[in-house]
Amino acid sequence: MTKNIDKIIKLLKKDCGKYTNPIVTEVSDLTKDPFKVLISCVLSLRTKDQTTAKAAKRLFEKADTPQKLLKLYLKEIEKLIYPVGFYKTKARNLKEICKDLIEIYNGEVPNDFEDKLMKVIPKKYWHDYNDLLVKFGQNVCLSVSPLCSKCVVNKYCPKIGVKRSR
Ligand code: SF4
Repeated sequence: MTKNIDKIIKLLKKDCGKYTNPIVTEVSDLTKDPFKVLISCVLSLRTKDQTTAKAAKRLFEKADTPQKLLKLYLKEIEKLIYPVGFYKTKARNLKEICKDLIEIYNGEVPNDFEDKLMKVIPKKYWHDYNDLLVKFGQNVCLSVSPLCSKCVVNKYCPKIGVKRSR
């Protein structure tokens, strides 16, 4: 797949232009705050973007730093982020993430540009890649039953683990 990366990114960019920005991209563009991007990302898993946006807004009004979020009671976080999917588990995870950020990373979200994906994706695509994949995942390559028949990169995809598609 990586040898066709230029063609694939070009096709994805063209195809994804018609979809709205994912909530995490909106948070990133509006706030430029890696902490808020990380927290929104956790909230957004298995949750509709509209629900995530409202929950993130309520949460950030109360706590917009790891230190403030860690001071909130678990029940309070649960109430603020409800009804995002798995809100109880996420509330617990958010506290753990904040604890780690403070204790291990000095309260900053670490920059992981050195990890796996960045080694196979050329640097010129780093900025756009996540946004493209999220949009594509929300609209075409859906987790339960991807729309392979409409997929612009179908011929490049090995379809690993795809058991059911449309
Ligand atoms: S699984 Fe289907 S929809 Fe997803 S990238 Fe591959 S061909 Fe496209």
